[in-house]
Amino acid sequence: MKTFKIGRTSVSVIIGDITTWTGDIIVNAANSGLLGGKGVDGAIHSAGGPEIMEQCLEIRKQQGGCPPGNAVITGAGRLAAQHIIHTVGPIWEGGGRREEHTLAECYRNSLLLAIEVGARSIAFPNISTGIYEYPKAPACDVALTAVTKLLEEDLPDNRLERIDFVCYSPENAELYVNWLERFTREK
Ligand code: ADP
Repeated sequence: MKTFKIGRTSVSVIIGDITTWTGDIIVNAANSGLLGGKGVDGAIHSAGGPEIMEQCLEIRKQQGGCPPGNAVITGAGRLAAQHIIHTVGPIWEGGGRREEHTLAECYRNSLLLAIEVGARSIAFPNISTGIYEYPKAPACDVALTAVTKLLEEDLPDNRLERIDFVCYSPENAELYVNWLERFTREK
């Protein structure tokens, strides 16, 4: 694990399984149907138990799913977190379909929702870089640009003390560490 200080917030890069993370909010890379799937989505639902899906189905009933870039919140079932924020990343289609904007919105909207519920800690997976095939290096740049930008806005209600990027692949972790080293050096 490597930790960087951005304003009042500690931003860490961790290699591991996000379902074992302990803190307030775990972010899920969901799909717009909110019906679960493979990858990190499947791992969160199977480790967290059926309660999470019940709440996703309730949200589906109310608002018919979740469009790409948006985020919704449920409880965390059996996981050691207070809530799961389900956000829907873009499917990579070559970069000409506003994928970058949509991915940035995932991080921004997840953080705004976490701030709204008074969270102090949040863990992100590398949204869209699995089945949705967003290339890892640009996805890392979009994620960290969106997160650092929001932190620099210094929102009055922001109580976030810890933002963890839980990377499943060492390759992603290296990209995140390099980006943050460069960012903190250049500041
Ligand atoms: P997407 O459909 O958004 O691409 P995936 O779940 O396929 O979602 O992949 C998103 C990222 O999550 C990938 O980098 C993948 O390696 C990673 N991942 C898969 N399982 C886990 C897990 N248990 N914990 C953390 N990250 C995971």
